[in-house]
Amino acid sequence: MSEYSKILAAVDLSDESGTVVRRATQVAGEGSEIYLTYVQEPMDSVYLGVVPYGPVFVGLEEVEEKLRSELNDRMRKLGQEFGVPESRQHILDGNPAPEIRRFADENDIDLVVLGTHGQKGVQLLLGSTANSVLHGVCCDVLAVRIYEC
Ligand code: AMP
Repeated sequence: MSEYSKILAAVDLSDESGTVVRRATQVAGEGSEIYLTYVQEPMDSVYLGVVPYGPVFVGLEEVEEKLRSELNDRMRKLGQEFGVPESRQHILDGNPAPEIRRFADENDIDLVVLGTHGQKGVQLLLGSTANSVLHGVCCDVLAVRIYEC
């Protein structure tokens, strides 16, 4: 029996997500509930990073719709693979770390599981999602190493 009854696996829906959710299932006990969350950042901030000369407005709604549907598909597949029901799969909007912390607090989560890439140099100074979640959330945090040492 695990001492964690509500476990939140924060996933970026990349190929690494399986590693994070697998670890959450390993920590879970018979009565534990696993939740999956992905946080979608606002489109303008996503696209400003990709297009250096300014945001592209043409067809943005359509792009957003397609992206949402792709994210939904990935989330459903992940849920099916690890037996997490749709009622516990959440796609949220906002900035990942604050949204993960808010979701954890509001849903009485007692463990957040997420990946860590082992930031170095400038990335270490800027921090990562794992660092930002750890500093401010009220429950335990398990950072799953997803790189070779
Ligand atoms: P990163 O900050 O890119 O090193 O991400 C580290 C981990 O934070 C990922 O492996 C996920 O577990 C989690 N994470 C990153 N981005 C998101 C996101 N948009 N939504 C939910 N979790 C995320």
